[in-house]
Amino acid sequence: MSELHQRHRAVMPEWLALYYADPIELTHGEGRYVWDAEGNKYLDFFGGILTTMTAHALPEVTKAVSDQAARIIHSSTLYLDRPMIELAERIAQLSGIPDARVFFTTSGTEANDAALLLATAYSRSNQILAMRNSYHGRSFSAVSITGNRGWSPTSLSPLQTLYVHGGVRSRGPYAALSDAEFTAACVADLEDMLGQTRGAAALIAEPIQGVGGFTSPPDGLYAAFREVLAERGILWISDEVQTGWGRTGEHFWGWQAHGRNGPPDMLTFAKGIGNGMSIGGVVARAEVMNCLDANSISTFGGSPVTMAAGLANLTYLLEHDLQGNARRVGGLLLERLRAIGAGVDRVREVRGRGLMIGVELARPGTGAADPEAASAVLEAARETGLLIGKGGGHDTSVLRIAPPLSLTVAEAEEGAAVLEQALRVL
Ligand code: PMP
Repeated sequence: MSELHQRHRAVMPEWLALYYADPIELTHGEGRYVWDAEGNKYLDFFGGILTTMTAHALPEVTKAVSDQAARIIHSSTLYLDRPMIELAERIAQLSGIPDARVFFTTSGTEANDAALLLATAYSRSNQILAMRNSYHGRSFSAVSITGNRGWSPTSLSPLQTLYVHGGVRSRGPYAALSDAEFTAACVADLEDMLGQTRGAAALIAEPIQGVGGFTSPPDGLYAAFREVLAERGILWISDEVQTGWGRTGEHFWGWQAHGRNGPPDMLTFAKGIGNGMSIGGVVARAEVMNCLDANSISTFGGSPVTMAAGLANLTYLLEHDLQGNARRVGGLLLERLRAIGAGVDRVREVRGRGLMIGVELARPGTGAADPEAASAVLEAARETGLLIGKGGGHDTSVLRIAPPLSLTVAEAEEGAAVLEQALRVL
Protein backbone atom coordinates (compact mmCIF):
# COMPACT_ATOMS: atom_id res chain seq x y z
CA MET A 1 0.00 0.00 0.00
CA SER A 2 1.40 3.41 -0.93
CA GLU A 3 2.34 5.81 1.83
CA LEU A 4 -0.41 8.24 0.82
CA HIS A 5 -2.99 5.45 0.70
CA GLN A 6 -2.04 4.42 4.25
CA ARG A 7 -2.45 8.00 5.42
CA HIS A 8 -5.83 8.19 3.65
CA ARG A 9 -6.91 5.04 5.49
CA ALA A 10 -5.78 6.44 8.82
CA VAL A 11 -7.47 9.82 8.63
CA MET A 12 -10.43 9.63 6.20
CA PRO A 13 -13.76 7.81 6.71
CA GLU A 14 -13.84 4.13 5.72
CA TRP A 15 -16.91 4.66 3.57
CA LEU A 16 -15.16 7.17 1.33
CA ALA A 17 -14.70 4.67 -1.50
CA LEU A 18 -11.60 5.03 -3.66
CA TYR A 19 -11.20 3.44 -7.07
CA TYR A 20 -8.55 0.73 -7.66
CA ALA A 21 -6.78 -1.63 -5.24
CA ASP A 22 -3.82 0.72 -5.52
CA PRO A 23 -5.51 4.15 -5.79
CA ILE A 24 -4.11 6.77 -8.15
CA GLU A 25 -2.66 10.11 -7.06
CA LEU A 26 -3.31 12.48 -9.95
CA THR A 27 -0.92 15.38 -10.27
CA HIS A 28 -1.91 17.21 -13.45
CA GLY A 29 -4.01 17.13 -16.58
CA GLU A 30 -4.24 18.57 -20.05
CA GLY A 31 -7.03 18.23 -22.57
CA ARG A 32 -8.44 14.73 -22.16
CA TYR A 33 -5.35 13.33 -20.42
CA VAL A 34 -4.19 13.18 -16.79
CA TRP A 35 -0.90 12.12 -15.20
CA ASP A 36 -0.21 10.43 -11.86
CA ALA A 37 2.57 10.92 -9.33
CA GLU A 38 4.59 8.12 -10.93
CA GLY A 39 4.49 9.81 -14.31
CA ASN A 40 1.91 7.49 -15.88
CA LYS A 41 -0.36 9.08 -18.48
CA TYR A 42 -4.06 8.20 -18.72
CA LEU A 43 -6.78 9.01 -21.21
CA ASP A 44 -9.58 10.31 -18.98
CA PHE A 45 -12.92 8.72 -19.83
CA PHE A 46 -14.57 9.71 -16.55
CA GLY A 47 -13.57 13.34 -15.99
CA GLY A 48 -13.60 13.05 -12.19
CA ILE A 49 -17.24 11.86 -12.24
CA LEU A 50 -18.23 14.23 -15.04
CA THR A 51 -16.73 17.30 -13.39
CA THR A 52 -14.18 18.06 -16.10
CA MET A 53 -16.76 19.12 -18.64
CA THR A 54 -14.73 20.79 -21.37
CA ALA A 55 -11.07 19.81 -20.91
CA HIS A 56 -8.35 19.54 -18.27
CA ALA A 57 -6.35 22.74 -17.74
CA LEU A 58 -8.48 24.62 -20.28
CA PRO A 59 -6.49 27.87 -20.68
CA GLU A 60 -9.65 30.03 -20.75
CA VAL A 61 -10.83 28.63 -17.39
CA THR A 62 -7.38 28.69 -15.80
CA LYS A 63 -6.92 32.33 -16.79
CA ALA A 64 -10.37 33.35 -15.52
CA VAL A 65 -9.66 31.62 -12.20
CA SER A 66 -6.20 33.09 -11.72
CA ASP A 67 -7.28 36.60 -12.78
CA GLN A 68 -10.18 36.51 -10.33
CA ALA A 69 -8.03 34.97 -7.58
CA ALA A 70 -5.52 37.77 -7.99
CA ARG A 71 -8.31 40.34 -7.53
CA ILE A 72 -10.41 38.95 -4.68
CA ILE A 73 -11.37 35.54 -3.28
CA HIS A 74 -14.34 35.77 -0.95
CA SER A 75 -18.07 35.18 -0.73
CA SER A 76 -20.52 36.93 -3.07
CA THR A 77 -23.42 36.36 -0.74
CA LEU A 78 -23.82 39.81 0.79
CA TYR A 79 -22.42 41.84 -2.10
CA LEU A 80 -23.01 42.24 -5.79
CA ASP A 81 -20.73 40.21 -8.00
CA ARG A 82 -20.67 40.63 -11.77
CA PRO A 83 -19.63 37.09 -12.84
CA MET A 84 -22.32 35.61 -10.57
CA ILE A 85 -25.09 37.72 -12.11
CA GLU A 86 -23.83 37.04 -15.63
CA LEU A 87 -23.68 33.29 -15.05
CA ALA A 88 -27.13 33.30 -13.41
CA GLU A 89 -28.56 35.19 -16.42
CA ARG A 90 -27.02 32.72 -18.88
CA ILE A 91 -28.25 29.69 -16.92
CA ALA A 92 -31.74 31.17 -16.43
CA GLN A 93 -32.02 31.75 -20.16
CA LEU A 94 -30.62 28.31 -21.07
CA SER A 95 -32.85 26.51 -18.56
CA GLY A 96 -36.01 27.01 -20.61
CA ILE A 97 -37.87 27.67 -17.36
CA PRO A 98 -40.07 30.78 -17.70
CA ASP A 99 -39.45 33.59 -15.21
CA ALA A 100 -36.46 31.60 -13.95
CA ARG A 101 -34.55 32.43 -10.76
CA VAL A 102 -31.16 30.89 -9.96
CA PHE A 103 -29.70 30.06 -6.55
CA PHE A 104 -26.06 28.97 -6.43
CA THR A 105 -24.73 26.33 -4.07
CA THR A 106 -21.40 24.51 -3.84
CA SER A 107 -22.48 20.98 -4.78
CA GLY A 108 -25.17 18.85 -6.36
CA THR A 109 -26.21 17.62 -2.94
CA GLU A 110 -26.79 21.13 -1.69
CA ALA A 111 -28.61 22.01 -4.92
CA ASN A 112 -31.04 19.12 -4.42
CA ASP A 113 -31.37 19.99 -0.77
CA ALA A 114 -32.36 23.53 -1.77
CA ALA A 115 -34.87 22.17 -4.32
CA LEU A 116 -36.42 19.95 -1.64
CA LEU A 117 -36.63 22.86 0.77
CA LEU A 118 -38.40 24.91 -1.90
CA ALA A 119 -40.75 22.10 -2.91
CA THR A 120 -41.75 21.28 0.65
CA ALA A 121 -42.19 24.95 1.61
CA TYR A 122 -44.18 25.67 -1.57
CA SER A 123 -46.57 22.77 -1.15
CA ARG A 124 -46.48 22.51 2.66
CA SER A 125 -45.88 18.78 2.35
CA ASN A 126 -42.82 16.67 3.10
CA GLN A 127 -43.88 13.87 0.79
CA ILE A 128 -41.52 13.40 -2.16
CA LEU A 129 -41.75 11.08 -5.12
CA ALA A 130 -38.36 9.76 -6.21
CA MET A 131 -37.28 7.09 -8.63
CA ARG A 132 -36.13 3.62 -7.74
CA ASN A 133 -32.36 3.25 -8.22
CA SER A 134 -31.87 7.04 -8.05
CA TYR A 135 -28.92 8.97 -6.64
CA HIS A 136 -29.27 12.58 -5.47
CA GLY A 137 -26.41 13.25 -3.07
CA ARG A 138 -25.20 12.66 0.42
CA SER A 139 -26.95 15.08 2.81
CA PHE A 140 -29.67 13.80 5.14
CA SER A 141 -32.42 14.91 2.78
CA ALA A 142 -30.57 13.80 -0.38
CA VAL A 143 -29.99 10.25 0.89
CA SER A 144 -33.65 10.24 1.90
CA ILE A 145 -34.65 10.45 -1.77
CA THR A 146 -31.88 8.18 -3.05
CA GLY A 147 -33.36 4.88 -4.14
CA ASN A 148 -29.99 3.24 -4.79
CA ARG A 149 -29.45 1.26 -1.63
CA GLY A 150 -25.67 1.27 -2.00
CA TRP A 151 -25.71 5.05 -1.52
CA SER A 152 -28.41 5.43 1.09
CA PRO A 153 -26.69 4.78 4.41
CA THR A 154 -29.66 5.44 6.68
CA SER A 155 -33.29 4.44 6.73
CA LEU A 156 -34.18 7.45 8.88
CA SER A 157 -35.61 10.34 6.89
CA PRO A 158 -36.83 13.92 7.27
CA LEU A 159 -39.06 13.25 4.26
CA GLN A 160 -41.74 10.76 3.40
CA THR A 161 -40.40 9.32 0.18
CA LEU A 162 -42.35 7.15 -2.23
CA TYR A 163 -40.33 5.37 -4.90
CA VAL A 164 -41.65 5.27 -8.43
CA HIS A 165 -40.92 2.84 -11.27
CA GLY A 166 -39.43 4.16 -14.49
CA GLY A 167 -35.72 4.81 -14.13
CA VAL A 168 -34.66 1.27 -14.99
CA ARG A 169 -36.40 -1.31 -17.07
CA SER A 170 -33.72 -3.77 -18.00
CA ARG A 171 -34.50 -6.03 -15.05
CA GLY A 172 -37.50 -7.58 -13.35
CA PRO A 173 -40.99 -7.83 -14.78
CA TYR A 174 -40.52 -4.74 -16.96
CA ALA A 175 -37.62 -6.17 -18.97
CA ALA A 176 -39.72 -7.58 -21.78
CA LEU A 177 -41.96 -4.54 -22.34
CA SER A 178 -41.80 -2.20 -25.33
CA ASP A 179 -41.21 1.52 -24.76
CA ALA A 180 -44.91 2.29 -25.01
CA GLU A 181 -45.92 -0.61 -22.74
CA PHE A 182 -43.26 0.33 -20.18
CA THR A 183 -44.34 3.98 -20.18
CA ALA A 184 -48.00 3.02 -19.78
CA ALA A 185 -47.16 0.60 -16.94
CA CYS A 186 -45.11 3.23 -15.08
CA VAL A 187 -47.80 5.89 -15.51
CA ALA A 188 -50.43 3.45 -14.22
CA ASP A 189 -48.16 2.63 -11.27
CA LEU A 190 -47.68 6.33 -10.49
CA GLU A 191 -51.44 6.99 -10.67
CA ASP A 192 -52.13 4.01 -8.45
CA MET A 193 -49.57 5.22 -5.91
CA LEU A 194 -50.99 8.75 -5.92
CA GLY A 195 -54.49 7.31 -5.46
CA GLN A 196 -53.35 5.77 -2.19
CA THR A 197 -51.69 8.82 -0.74
CA ARG A 198 -52.22 12.54 -0.49
CA GLY A 199 -50.40 15.77 -1.05
CA ALA A 200 -47.01 14.93 -2.56
CA ALA A 201 -44.81 18.01 -2.98
CA ALA A 202 -42.69 16.99 -5.95
CA LEU A 203 -41.25 14.27 -8.12
CA ILE A 204 -37.48 14.42 -8.43
CA ALA A 205 -35.76 12.40 -11.16
CA GLU A 206 -32.51 12.12 -13.09
CA PRO A 207 -33.37 12.05 -16.82
CA ILE A 208 -30.63 9.42 -17.18
CA GLN A 209 -29.65 7.75 -13.92
CA GLY A 210 -25.96 8.48 -13.40
CA VAL A 211 -24.65 6.59 -10.38
CA GLY A 212 -27.36 4.01 -11.13
CA GLY A 213 -25.54 2.94 -14.29
CA PHE A 214 -26.48 5.34 -17.11
CA THR A 215 -29.94 3.88 -17.54
CA SER A 216 -32.43 5.83 -19.66
CA PRO A 217 -36.20 5.54 -19.54
CA PRO A 218 -37.98 5.73 -22.89
CA ASP A 219 -38.12 9.27 -24.26
CA GLY A 220 -41.28 10.96 -23.14
CA LEU A 221 -41.71 9.03 -19.88
CA TYR A 222 -41.35 12.16 -17.76
CA ALA A 223 -43.64 14.07 -20.11
CA ALA A 224 -46.27 11.41 -19.42
CA PHE A 225 -45.56 11.63 -15.68
CA ARG A 226 -45.82 15.40 -15.88
CA GLU A 227 -49.44 15.19 -17.03
CA VAL A 228 -50.32 13.11 -13.99
CA LEU A 229 -48.36 15.42 -11.67
CA ALA A 230 -49.68 18.69 -13.10
CA GLU A 231 -53.31 17.59 -12.56
CA ARG A 232 -52.52 17.22 -8.88
CA GLY A 233 -50.31 20.30 -8.46
CA ILE A 234 -47.18 18.21 -7.85
CA LEU A 235 -43.90 19.84 -8.96
CA TRP A 236 -41.38 18.18 -11.28
CA ILE A 237 -37.71 18.60 -10.37
CA SER A 238 -35.18 17.45 -12.96
CA ASP A 239 -31.81 16.56 -11.41
CA GLU A 240 -29.46 17.58 -14.22
CA VAL A 241 -26.27 17.17 -12.21
CA GLN A 242 -24.96 14.58 -14.70
CA THR A 243 -27.14 15.15 -17.76
CA GLY A 244 -26.87 18.93 -18.10
CA TRP A 245 -24.73 21.16 -20.37
CA GLY A 246 -25.08 19.11 -23.54
CA ARG A 247 -23.52 15.93 -22.17
CA THR A 248 -26.22 13.81 -23.83
CA GLY A 249 -25.49 15.27 -27.27
CA GLU A 250 -28.95 15.67 -28.68
CA HIS A 251 -30.14 17.89 -25.86
CA PHE A 252 -28.69 20.60 -23.67
CA TRP A 253 -30.66 19.27 -20.67
CA GLY A 254 -31.70 15.70 -20.06
CA TRP A 255 -35.33 16.72 -19.51
CA GLN A 256 -35.55 17.77 -23.16
CA ALA A 257 -35.77 14.12 -24.18
CA HIS A 258 -39.15 14.36 -22.42
CA GLY A 259 -39.81 17.81 -23.80
CA ARG A 260 -43.45 17.54 -24.78
CA ASN A 261 -44.56 18.72 -21.35
CA GLY A 262 -41.41 20.54 -20.32
CA PRO A 263 -39.73 22.46 -18.94
CA PRO A 264 -39.75 21.16 -15.36
CA ASP A 265 -40.70 23.42 -12.46
CA MET A 266 -37.16 23.23 -11.14
CA LEU A 267 -33.85 21.88 -12.29
CA THR A 268 -30.70 21.29 -10.30
CA PHE A 269 -27.16 21.40 -11.66
CA ALA A 270 -23.56 20.97 -10.47
CA LYS A 271 -20.50 18.97 -11.56
CA GLY A 272 -19.43 20.03 -15.05
CA ILE A 273 -20.36 23.70 -15.05
CA GLY A 274 -17.31 24.62 -12.95
CA ASN A 275 -14.97 22.31 -14.90
CA GLY A 276 -13.83 20.99 -11.52
CA MET A 277 -14.57 24.07 -9.41
CA SER A 278 -17.37 23.60 -6.90
CA ILE A 279 -20.53 25.08 -8.36
CA GLY A 280 -24.04 23.77 -7.88
CA GLY A 281 -27.42 25.38 -8.09
CA VAL A 282 -31.14 25.26 -8.54
CA VAL A 283 -33.24 27.01 -11.16
CA ALA A 284 -36.93 27.48 -10.39
CA ARG A 285 -39.89 29.46 -11.55
CA ALA A 286 -39.99 32.73 -9.55
CA GLU A 287 -43.21 31.72 -7.84
CA VAL A 288 -41.52 28.60 -6.45
CA MET A 289 -38.11 30.15 -5.74
CA ASN A 290 -39.62 33.07 -3.88
CA CYS A 291 -41.93 31.03 -1.65
CA LEU A 292 -39.57 31.04 1.35
CA ASP A 293 -40.60 33.48 4.06
CA ALA A 294 -37.25 33.67 5.83
CA ASN A 295 -33.68 34.40 4.74
CA SER A 296 -31.57 31.63 3.28
CA ILE A 297 -27.98 31.87 2.07
CA SER A 298 -25.14 29.64 0.96
CA THR A 299 -21.97 31.43 2.08
CA PHE A 300 -19.77 29.96 -0.65
CA GLY A 301 -22.50 29.48 -3.26
CA GLY A 302 -21.74 31.85 -6.14
CA SER A 303 -18.27 32.77 -4.84
CA PRO A 304 -16.36 34.89 -7.36
CA VAL A 305 -13.58 32.44 -8.31
CA THR A 306 -16.02 29.63 -9.02
CA MET A 307 -18.32 31.96 -10.95
CA ALA A 308 -15.42 33.18 -13.09
CA ALA A 309 -14.60 29.54 -13.85
CA GLY A 310 -18.21 28.72 -14.66
CA LEU A 311 -18.63 31.66 -16.97
CA ALA A 312 -15.42 30.95 -18.90
CA ASN A 313 -16.28 27.26 -19.09
CA LEU A 314 -19.84 27.80 -20.30
CA THR A 315 -18.68 30.35 -22.86
CA TYR A 316 -16.13 27.87 -24.23
CA LEU A 317 -18.70 25.06 -24.31
CA LEU A 318 -21.19 27.16 -26.29
CA GLU A 319 -18.68 28.81 -28.63
CA HIS A 320 -17.10 25.46 -29.55
CA ASP A 321 -20.42 23.60 -29.80
CA LEU A 322 -19.29 20.86 -27.45
CA GLN A 323 -22.86 19.59 -27.31
CA GLY A 324 -22.57 18.89 -31.04
CA ASN A 325 -19.18 17.28 -30.43
CA ALA A 326 -20.72 15.06 -27.73
CA ARG A 327 -23.38 14.00 -30.21
CA ARG A 328 -20.95 13.25 -33.05
CA VAL A 329 -18.03 11.71 -31.16
CA GLY A 330 -20.33 10.05 -28.61
CA GLY A 331 -22.33 8.50 -31.45
CA LEU A 332 -19.19 7.03 -33.01
CA LEU A 333 -17.94 5.78 -29.65
CA LEU A 334 -21.27 4.15 -28.86
CA GLU A 335 -21.26 2.37 -32.21
CA ARG A 336 -17.70 1.19 -31.74
CA LEU A 337 -18.34 -0.05 -28.19
CA ARG A 338 -21.48 -1.86 -29.33
CA ALA A 339 -19.42 -3.66 -31.95
CA ILE A 340 -16.82 -4.59 -29.33
CA GLY A 341 -19.49 -5.64 -26.82
CA ALA A 342 -21.14 -7.94 -29.36
CA GLY A 343 -18.05 -10.13 -29.21
CA VAL A 344 -17.83 -10.39 -25.41
CA ASP A 345 -20.31 -12.72 -23.74
CA ARG A 346 -20.20 -10.82 -20.42
CA VAL A 347 -21.33 -7.60 -22.04
CA ARG A 348 -25.08 -7.51 -21.47
CA GLU A 349 -25.79 -4.10 -22.96
CA VAL A 350 -23.99 -1.05 -24.33
CA ARG A 351 -26.22 2.01 -24.03
CA GLY A 352 -26.05 5.73 -23.79
CA ARG A 353 -26.49 9.15 -25.26
CA GLY A 354 -23.81 11.58 -26.36
CA LEU A 355 -20.78 11.22 -24.12
CA MET A 356 -22.62 9.32 -21.39
CA ILE A 357 -22.17 5.66 -22.23
CA GLY A 358 -22.74 2.60 -20.05
CA VAL A 359 -21.41 -0.91 -20.65
CA GLU A 360 -23.35 -3.34 -18.48
CA LEU A 361 -21.62 -6.58 -17.55
CA ALA A 362 -23.42 -9.73 -16.44
CA ARG A 363 -22.66 -13.35 -15.79
CA PRO A 364 -23.20 -15.39 -18.92
CA GLY A 365 -26.18 -17.71 -18.73
CA THR A 366 -27.84 -16.30 -15.61
CA GLY A 367 -27.60 -12.64 -16.65
CA ALA A 368 -26.88 -11.77 -13.00
CA ALA A 369 -24.99 -8.54 -12.30
CA ASP A 370 -21.24 -9.04 -12.22
CA PRO A 371 -19.50 -6.44 -10.03
CA GLU A 372 -16.26 -8.43 -9.92
CA ALA A 373 -16.05 -8.29 -13.72
CA ALA A 374 -16.59 -4.51 -13.64
CA SER A 375 -13.78 -4.07 -11.09
CA ALA A 376 -11.48 -6.32 -13.12
CA VAL A 377 -12.07 -4.31 -16.30
CA LEU A 378 -11.55 -1.05 -14.42
CA GLU A 379 -8.18 -2.29 -13.15
CA ALA A 380 -7.15 -3.65 -16.55
CA ALA A 381 -8.07 -0.38 -18.28
CA ARG A 382 -6.03 1.57 -15.76
CA GLU A 383 -3.02 -0.68 -16.41
CA THR A 384 -3.21 0.26 -20.09
CA GLY A 385 -3.74 3.96 -19.49
CA LEU A 386 -7.50 4.54 -19.46
CA LEU A 387 -9.64 5.86 -16.61
CA ILE A 388 -13.31 4.86 -16.62
CA GLY A 389 -16.01 4.79 -13.96
CA LYS A 390 -18.41 2.20 -12.67
CA GLY A 391 -21.93 2.30 -11.34
CA GLY A 392 -25.16 0.38 -11.23
CA GLY A 393 -28.15 -0.46 -9.16
CA HIS A 394 -28.20 -3.29 -6.69
CA ASP A 395 -24.74 -4.29 -7.88
CA THR A 396 -22.03 -2.14 -9.42
CA SER A 397 -21.66 -3.86 -12.75
CA VAL A 398 -21.86 -1.05 -15.29
CA LEU A 399 -18.75 0.57 -16.75
CA ARG A 400 -19.41 4.30 -17.00
CA ILE A 401 -17.84 6.33 -19.76
CA ALA A 402 -18.16 10.12 -19.61
CA PRO A 403 -15.08 11.89 -20.99
CA PRO A 404 -14.66 15.66 -21.26
CA LEU A 405 -16.98 16.93 -24.00
CA SER A 406 -14.07 18.05 -26.21
CA LEU A 407 -13.05 14.43 -26.86
CA THR A 408 -11.67 13.95 -30.36
CA VAL A 409 -12.47 11.07 -32.72
CA ALA A 410 -8.87 9.84 -32.44
CA GLU A 411 -9.10 9.82 -28.62
CA ALA A 412 -12.45 8.01 -28.77
CA GLU A 413 -10.82 5.35 -30.94
CA GLU A 414 -7.81 5.12 -28.65
CA GLY A 415 -10.05 4.63 -25.59
CA ALA A 416 -12.25 2.07 -27.35
CA ALA A 417 -9.16 0.06 -28.33
CA VAL A 418 -7.91 0.05 -24.72
CA LEU A 419 -11.33 -0.99 -23.48
CA GLU A 420 -11.49 -3.80 -26.01
CA GLN A 421 -8.20 -5.06 -24.66
CA ALA A 422 -9.30 -4.59 -21.02
CA LEU A 423 -12.48 -6.60 -21.66
CA ARG A 424 -10.24 -9.54 -22.58
CA VAL A 425 -9.52 -10.07 -18.84
CA LEU A 426 -13.00 -11.51 -18.71
N1 PMP B 1 -27.35 14.30 -8.30
C1 PMP B 1 -26.79 13.47 -9.18
C2 PMP B 1 -27.59 12.98 -10.32
C3 PMP B 1 -25.45 13.07 -9.02
O1 PMP B 1 -24.90 12.22 -9.89
C4 PMP B 1 -24.71 13.58 -7.93
C5 PMP B 1 -23.24 13.23 -7.73
N2 PMP B 1 -22.83 12.01 -8.20
C6 PMP B 1 -25.34 14.44 -7.04
C7 PMP B 1 -26.66 14.80 -7.26
C8 PMP B 1 -24.62 15.00 -5.86
O2 PMP B 1 -23.68 15.91 -6.26
P1 PMP B 1 -22.44 16.27 -5.32
O3 PMP B 1 -21.60 15.06 -5.19
O4 PMP B 1 -21.79 17.43 -6.02
O5 PMP B 1 -22.99 16.69 -4.00
